[in-house]
Amino acid sequence: MAELKKVLNAVSVPLVVVAPDLTVRQANRAARKAFPRLKTSRAVTRAGLPRKRLERLIAAAQKLGEGNAVLETDTALPREFLVSARPASWRGGKDEPAFVLTFEDRSALRDARSMRSDFVANVSHEIRSPLTALSGFVETLQGAAMDDPEAREMFLGLMARETERMSHLVSDLLSLSQVQAKERRAPRKPADLAQALDQALDAADRLASRRGKVIRRRIGVLPLILGKQDDLARVFINLLENAVNYSRDGATVQVEAGVAAPDNPLKKPAVRVAITDEGEGIPAGEIPRLTERFYRVDKSRSRNLGGTGLGLAIVKHILMRHRGRLVIDSVPGAGSVFTVFLPVADAGEAE
Ligand code: ADP
Repeated sequence: MAELKKVLNAVSVPLVVVAPDLTVRQANRAARKAFPRLKTSRAVTRAGLPRKRLERLIAAAQKLGEGNAVLETDTALPREFLVSARPASWRGGKDEPAFVLTFEDRSALRDARSMRSDFVANVSHEIRSPLTALSGFVETLQGAAMDDPEAREMFLGLMARETERMSHLVSDLLSLSQVQAKERRAPRKPADLAQALDQALDAADRLASRRGKVIRRRIGVLPLILGKQDDLARVFINLLENAVNYSRDGATVQVEAGVAAPDNPLKKPAVRVAITDEGEGIPAGEIPRLTERFYRVDKSRSRNLGGTGLGLAIVKHILMRHRGRLVIDSVPGAGSVFTVFLPVADAGEAE
């Protein structure tokens, strides 16, 4: 008996032996860990599993020699398991029919499935809004505005804006899928960080001057890092564009780059690039969600500024590939600091 217990505990998947009435006879260590409420001599349904479906599973196992079902727990955080049942006899003093239940946790798979379908729904929704606007303008041009040169001019301008919005969205979606595809392969060639910053500052300066804002810079010594210059430039462009877009007229954006302090979040020699704005700031509760795809604090504001809601998701994935980190600090009403940390290349690491 003690030996059997040891063997069951060595099984890495949750395993529970139940009597035909669903009373637990034995539960291995993995099962007790997965279902802390499980108790010997009590019903297995204490784990939050649905009784009716378990009974059907046992009936199938009895009749066919095996039964499998995907069950969801009714716990606060529902989890999905593929539960397999096989008949066995159990000598706990007397011979009685019993069933062995094993559990395969499929929650991660379910979450990935629902994330994928959320993503498709989001993309469709984002594309549908400009499309609806465009088809409305076409209709107006074919009808009421056909012989009105002034109205035609105005509607064509609006159509150009919507088309630009869609192509911006598609190119952000492509960038996101490209950076995600190569995320596991860390870059092995040295990158010129100063040039990546210059490239980003060039683009951001143009936007800033159009919006009546100024970008100041203080670039110090930049040690060698491994990376892809264009990807790094994309990180800084996205952060600078946000700093310019989400701050008030006449505000200043500050870029500071140099060697990070030894107690930086990467806990190893790193470069630090901080982008500080005097913008509207972000409520603390929203900060952890900013890098989610399509997450925006104020949807219509982001749309009006030509945002796609993908900029910070792209930043996050590029930094993941570079083994870096993004830290966001913000005081609502005062401004935000977006700080990028990138690991310095070890001597001999570069190809
Ligand atoms: P978007 O295209 O909407 O700018 P991002 O992924 O770049 O998408 O940013 C997501 C959201 O984070 C923005 O919609 C905005 O609400 C918020 N945000 C980003 N940067 C800043 C900033 N510097 N100041 C205030 N809010 C910001």
